[in-house]
Amino acid sequence: MTDLPARRLLLVHAHPDDESINNGATMAKYAAEGAHVTLVTCTQGEEGEVIPAGLAHLAPDRDDRLGPHRVGELAAAMKELGVTDHRFLGGPGRFRDSGMMGVAQNQRPGSFWSTPVDDAASPLVEIIRSVRPQVLVTYDPDGGYGHPDHIQAHRVAMRAADLAADPGHRAELGAPHTIAKIYWNRVPRTVAESGFAALRAATGLTFPGIADIRDVPGVVDDELITAEIDGTEYADRKAAAMRAHVTQIVVQDEFFALSNDLGQPIFVREYYQLVRGASGAPAGERERDLFAGVVA
Ligand SMILES: [Zn+2]
Repeated sequence: MTDLPARRLLLVHAHPDDESINNGATMAKYAAEGAHVTLVTCTQGEEGEVIPAGLAHLAPDRDDRLGPHRVGELAAAMKELGVTDHRFLGGPGRFRDSGMMGVAQNQRPGSFWSTPVDDAASPLVEIIRSVRPQVLVTYDPDGGYGHPDHIQAHRVAMRAADLAADPGHRAELGAPHTIAKIYWNRVPRTVAESGFAALRAATGLTFPGIADIRDVPGVVDDELITAEIDGTEYADRKAAAMRAHVTQIVVQDEFFALSNDLGQPIFVREYYQLVRGASGAPAGERERDLFAGVVA
């Protein structure tokens, strides 16, 4: 892997659009700085709701073509972020979107949620051992907000990180590799609160309502945040990537809405909690670089 850039970042997400909403600025920044950014998306998001009326026929209860359509949206988003290495776990369509918690699709054969964690981890082990990232970004154990595919993405990412490092695990998947630092996506509560305050004060927006702070994945007390990436320079790239997810997201100014049409702030600073590896920041301070302290 001597031909890979010195800094390598892996992100594991559940559906197309999660990467741009959560990490768009971080991905654009590291890609622009020459790091190798690998996005692994676990499902095609087949069970998503479709916003534009003209594309409503793609929905799972009609043509069921939303998954392949969202592959194209993700590719367009990655172009906006400058990320060239984006893959679907096990290949496009290997694991199907499981829908929201409690729906029948959770247990549908081939759904991501119904797949044993180790089965879904295998293709990720192979990617980890091939790309050899120093940094992994994924969700917390609740998936940020309880969606089954997000919970499963967390489990699969954490399990694959362990298995990839284990010299006794399946040599045919590549030479063992230990990821130096693992982060979970977070939003500090005070940042979420001021984002919603700005949304309430904004004029000219056409969203019929405003989301609840509990709709934002990964909101935690500020003390838990260990890393903060200032993505101000890449705000336009993040917004453009979010806009590329045409069936899922409507962007207005510094705000956006999902299919529920409720406004939410776009966070241009992105926040993380280091859960494995040593912080590269002085004690008590947030890291400003996910690779801080990493020896290439
Ligand atoms: Zn998602």
